[in-house]
Amino acid sequence: MKHFDIIVVGGGHAGCEAAHAAARMGCRVALITLKAKGIGALSCNPAIGGLGKGHLVREIDALDGFMGRAADMAGIQYRLLNRSKGPAVQGPRAQVDRAAYRHAMRTAIAHSTGIDVIEGEVVDLVIKQSTACGVLLADDSRILSEVVILTTGTFLRGVVHMGDIAHSGGRIGENASVRLAERMEAMEMPMGRLKTGTPPRLDRNSINWDIVDMQAGDDAPAMLSFLSAQPALPQVCCGITATNEKTHDIIRRNLARSAMYSGQIQGVGPRYCPSIEDKITRFADKTAHQVFLEPEGLRSTTIYPNGISTSMPADVQTTYVRSIRGLEKAQLLQPGYAIEYDYIDPRSLRSTLETKNMPGLFLAGQINGTTGYEEAAAQGLMAGMNAALGRQGKEPQNFSRAESYIGVMIDDLVTRGVCEPYRMFSSRAEFRLSLRADNADQRLTPLGIALGLVGPDRRQKFEQKAQALACGRSLLDQKTTTPRELASAGIKVAQDGARRTLFQIMAFPNICFADVAQFEPRLDALPLEIQRQLENDARYANYLERQKHDVAALRRNEAQEIPMSLDYSAIAGLSNELKTKLSKARPQNLAQAEKIDGMTPAALMLLMVKLRQNQAPAKKEASP
Ligand code: FAD
Repeated sequence: MKHFDIIVVGGGHAGCEAAHAAARMGCRVALITLKAKGIGALSCNPAIGGLGKGHLVREIDALDGFMGRAADMAGIQYRLLNRSKGPAVQGPRAQVDRAAYRHAMRTAIAHSTGIDVIEGEVVDLVIKQSTACGVLLADDSRILSEVVILTTGTFLRGVVHMGDIAHSGGRIGENASVRLAERMEAMEMPMGRLKTGTPPRLDRNSINWDIVDMQAGDDAPAMLSFLSAQPALPQVCCGITATNEKTHDIIRRNLARSAMYSGQIQGVGPRYCPSIEDKITRFADKTAHQVFLEPEGLRSTTIYPNGISTSMPADVQTTYVRSIRGLEKAQLLQPGYAIEYDYIDPRSLRSTLETKNMPGLFLAGQINGTTGYEEAAAQGLMAGMNAALGRQGKEPQNFSRAESYIGVMIDDLVTRGVCEPYRMFSSRAEFRLSLRADNADQRLTPLGIALGLVGPDRRQKFEQKAQALACGRSLLDQKTTTPRELASAGIKVAQDGARRTLFQIMAFPNICFADVAQFEPRLDALPLEIQRQLENDARYANYLERQKHDVAALRRNEAQEIPMSLDYSAIAGLSNELKTKLSKARPQNLAQAEKIDGMTPAALMLLMVKLRQNQAPAKKEASP
């Protein structure tokens, strides 16, 4: 019988980061998964990062996780989403070559000292005195360890749906994990049912590329890993087309045949990655929805049509796909499908992701009700790290909402639970001005180094960067100048006569690094990456104090009453979804509003400001 420091069940995104993290911290890890060749598989879209998710990837990377590096080894188109907005809400995203990503992740796992990959199906836990101490495989072999991390994704009692056809499966072509799900139920784990879906895959050669729009990536790609300098692979364009009234008509006529609408699927789906059936029903007034035609790889002939995930029967999929411009002769290589699966209520977890009822058992990834590779990977890293700390007899490490998106996600999961698949958005973070993707290394790498989670290469690179930043910052802080001196250098600022440091001057929105570098020639010698970082730091410096006050005000005002007559539809910036939910729920105070499903700190802040505005005239009238 084999004995390991830590057992990780599942070789998906959570499992790989959990095993990698624990091995980096010196543990001997068994990574048990159904198929070794499925390690690092991207079940759905061939892309890593995006809004909110890009922040998570950078945080994983700052802690020396592997997702960002694997994405950069496989990236074939980079786009910084929200580029026109401030860095706090920009989301780095890379479309990746599916095969290259999997190869990068498999190689990283194979080359990690301390990870043994074992192919097999875990069907039960070995439990002694209510503590997890190993697993039982389908072939009756046992593998022992004081810590087991389950990262089984969509596999627990998974059912694949396509129209009225449904069969057991963890994702298409793979068996579901039924025995383990039954055991979890028998152990009285609080469980529920969720669902997600994926679009059909198209043959590249059957698409009329001449009549669809083409979109290239960014000229200056924002890499996902702090260790990467440039893309490793040639870059490609995506096609862009759109659904039309005919497409919507076909879907509407066949809604009763959609697994989701026929009542065949009971699980709740991700509101933020809706199926095409959902889109045309929920946004009935829209006459078109964009469809991105994303190549799955440099050598692959498969195209991923992003935006039309579905649970329609295969024949309906073919008909509606062919109603779309450029796809008139499209060949479907694989139909789209929905999957329904068990998840475990994350409120049964501690912040370390260890279950409250069974010491030694950790859960990470989609099993906790989240959706997305990045959310899964971040949880895997946290579970692997805390499991390793526990094995070393050290205190667990919790990440707060103020220092990372990882902290926001885990706090949301373990305190609020989920009622639909949870995905990350920047609006979920109260402190999003300081939790930027560009400064994830400054926020987290020192902690990773202290915990033994960061290897020597990253440590060295980070320390060099930190030194250059400190040097640049001290030059910017030491040198001062006046509005008059700035004006004579051709830089327009208000002539208020105030002498300011160069760092303070860079906080003005119209002033960039090159402007202030005129006053301190040594600044020119700093690498471009450091110049950009200092520019971002200066830009946000003034707002951070305000952010702290806003968050404190929110906490102080939780008891503030909300009038029953409040017109939520008139609150600018509030999403339509929240306007409807708030109008329906009519919370009595901010604390109650906070508990409404989907409520974010940003939305609460808008509500608080509105209440203040409503009070203001009343106060004026009261004063003499
Ligand atoms: P997975 O990546 O699913 O990995 C689970 C691993 O566990 C696998 O390696 C499997 O072999 C292993 N395993 C399972 N049971 C056992 C067992 N008993 N013994 C041993 N090994 C086991 N995400 C989005 O963000 N947007 C989407 O639109 C989206 N659509 C999706 C559509 C489909 C059809 C599917 C399947 C997934 C979709 N996802 C989507 C979700 C995304 O794939 C997951 O969020 C992500 O892969 C979860 O990572 P994970 O590590 O938790 O699990």
